[in-house]
Amino acid sequence: MSLCAECFNNGDHTGHDFNMFRSQAGGACDCGDGNVMRASGFCSRHRLKTGENVPSVPRDLLLMSEMVLPRFIITIIQYLRDGYTEPESAADRDLQKVLQQLEPHISFLEELTKMGGAMRTVLTKILTNQQTFKELSMGQEENVYAKRNYEKYLSALKSSGLVSVEEKGAGAGATDTPAGEDQEGLQGVGQRKRVKLSSSTKDPSIMDTLKHKCFLEELLFWTIKYEFPQKMVTFLLNMLPDQDYKITFTKTFVQHYAFIMKTLMKSHESDTMSNRIVHISVQLFSNEELARHVTEECQLLDIMVTVLLYMMETCLIKSELQGNKTDYTMLHRLQSYWIAGYKMS
Ligand SMILES: [Zn+2]
Ligand SMILES: [Zn+2]
Repeated sequence: MSLCAECFNNGDHTGHDFNMFRSQAGGACDCGDGNVMRASGFCSRHRLKTGENVPSVPRDLLLMSEMVLPRFIITIIQYLRDGYTEPESAADRDLQKVLQQLEPHISFLEELTKMGGAMRTVLTKILTNQQTFKELSMGQEENVYAKRNYEKYLSALKSSGLVSVEEKGAGAGATDTPAGEDQEGLQGVGQRKRVKLSSSTKDPSIMDTLKHKCFLEELLFWTIKYEFPQKMVTFLLNMLPDQDYKITFTKTFVQHYAFIMKTLMKSHESDTMSNRIVHISVQLFSNEELARHVTEECQLLDIMVTVLLYMMETCLIKSELQGNKTDYTMLHRLQSYWIAGYKMS
C-alpha cells in the first residue's frame, strides 16, 4: 500500500506502523480505496468523496482529446517500433537516444494523467479500445514508414515466447518454437524431473508468443523492450487511480510476466530494471481483491512457477558428482538447503 504525502498528512495515523520514503518512480495513491486500506485511515478529502455526487464533465470538453489522442499514441508507438534494435543485432544500439527523442511526448502523456479523473477516463478508453488498435496499428496502405514499422513490431513479437533450454540446445533446425507445443522436445533423456513439472502446468500459452489487442498491451511490450524507461513507468503508474485501467493494466502485466523475466535475464542493467518491476508489482498487488482476481482468472501462480523454473533451468550446471546422469549441482544445492532447513525447524 502507498499513500501520497498530502493524504498522509490529512489522515489520522495515530498508532499506525509506517515507513516514509520519497518515490522517484511515480505511482498511485491508495487513499480512498476500500480494498487496500480501512476507511478510518482515509484522509479528510477522500473520506468526504465517498458517496458524494461528483459532477460530470461536459462531453464537448473531452471530444477533442478523444479524437486526437489515439493518433498521438500511435505516433509514439511508431517511434518505439522504428527505434528498437535487438542487443545482438547492432553494434551501435542506442535505445537511450530513441527515448530522449520521445521524452517530450511521454512527458505530455504524463501531464495529461495529472489533469484529473475525466482525462484519465478518456486515456483509459483509448488505451484499452480494441477497435482503435485494429484501425491504427497496421498503418494505412500508402504509408510505407508505418508498414515497415508494423513488420518490425511483428518480428519483435515473434521472439517474445520462452524457449526451453533443451529445445535451444537441440540445435539442428530447432527454431523459436514455443515450448509446450513441441512435446517431443521435452522428452529428452535425463530431463525427467523437468518434464514432470512442465507438463503439469495447465496452459502452454504461458510460454507462447504474445498477441496484442489494444494500445496498452503494445505500450507495455515496448516499455519492457526498452527496459522500463522511467518516464514511461511513471505514466503507466499515474493512470492507476482509474479503476478500469487498473484492472486492465494488471492483467496486461500478468500477460507479459514471462516476457518481462526473459528480458530481465538478458539485461545489462538488471538491477535498475528489477527495481522498477518491483515498484510496479507492489502497486498492483497490494489490492487484495485484484490480486486474488488475477490469480484465479489469469493463472498468476502457474505463470510465476513456470517462469521460475525457466530461470533456474538456464543457470543449471552439470553435476560432476555423478557424471552425466540426471542430477544437477543446482538440485544438490537445493536439496542440502532443504535438509538444512528441515533440521533447523
Ligand atoms: Zn493521496
Ligand atoms: Zn486521500
